[in-house]
Amino acid sequence: MPIQILPPQLANQIAAGEVVERPASVVKELVENSLDAQASHIDIDIEKGGSKLIRVRDNGSGIAEQELVLALSRHATSKITDLHDLEAISSLGFRGEALASISSVSRLTLTSCTAGQEAAWQANAEGRDMQVSVRPAAHPVGTSIEVLDLFFNTPARRKFLRSDKTEFGHIDELLKRLALSRYDVSWQLNHNGQTVRRLKAATTDEQRLKRVAALCGRTFAEHAAFIENQYGDVRIWGWIVHPAACSAQLQCQYSYVNGRMMRDKLLNHAIRQAYGDSLLADQQPAFVLYIELDPRQVDVNVHPAKHEVRFHQARLIHDFVVSALNDALTQLNPLAFGVDAV
Ligand code: ADP
Ligand code: MG
Repeated sequence: MPIQILPPQLANQIAAGEVVERPASVVKELVENSLDAQASHIDIDIEKGGSKLIRVRDNGSGIAEQELVLALSRHATSKITDLHDLEAISSLGFRGEALASISSVSRLTLTSCTAGQEAAWQANAEGRDMQVSVRPAAHPVGTSIEVLDLFFNTPARRKFLRSDKTEFGHIDELLKRLALSRYDVSWQLNHNGQTVRRLKAATTDEQRLKRVAALCGRTFAEHAAFIENQYGDVRIWGWIVHPAACSAQLQCQYSYVNGRMMRDKLLNHAIRQAYGDSLLADQQPAFVLYIELDPRQVDVNVHPAKHEVRFHQARLIHDFVVSALNDALTQLNPLAFGVDAV
């Protein structure tokens, strides 16, 4: 076959393979867009585990009528303009690919209204042919994105969807991780018309701990100690659970870098090392930890789904996390770290 440039729709579907693995990944991209648009309330409606419908509604800044079509195009983003921006990312998105990817493998409707507009507008993009039509609609300031029939035109991917219950489980787990990243935002998650989670905005320490208890369980909240530490301009804060209270059941391992949820090897290694020998083989550390540092000190453009980061001063961050947690764990209950304790 001769070499040829792929048609845009096929290129989008290939890109979708990287970021849209299952309904939960769509929810992640849509919610991150809402957070980037400064929403303070986010509603998520799911039908049939997301295979029928995923709808994310926010009260953020909205998208102007003349930008609706652009928002659905590949490499179209309002978040960075040059390499300098890429090196100090403060938004969750920046690749300009999510909406183009998602709309290439679903029937997508984008409805939005900005504060400066008199009325809302709606754009529809249906899968492969990507005929985007724009028409007036009713919507308060903010954005709703509706994703119907995910993977309807990519049967091989659709086949890989698990049961509604399993897919919804992934979405609920994701909501936990997101809701723990932004206490100031209120959230609602509905499945098949039933409200599964409703979280009010939390502004005081007490309200934040209440949210942690709602999401991580009472056992976590009862045994978690608040920690806070700083080294230069690197800050760590959050909650960790005393090793004696850690168990295989207490699945709660959430870490964030500059508000972005992570599954980072370096951080996990540091946390494990801090717990050290105090955990038995079947015990897992339990934590909700936030690391904040100068965005120029961390590269988030490592992975399309941005689960991992690269710290410029990896060793320093690792050792800081180990020592901050060590300090905290020792103070938590000095006896517990003695040879014969617990
Ligand atoms: P990225 O988030 O990487 O910029 P996306 O494809 O996710 O790329 O979104 C494209 C653009 O559409 C964003 O840069 C933003 O300007 C706009 N957008 C998407 N979702 C929203 C939303 N919920 N509210 C306001 N603007 C949005
Ligand atoms: Mg995005």
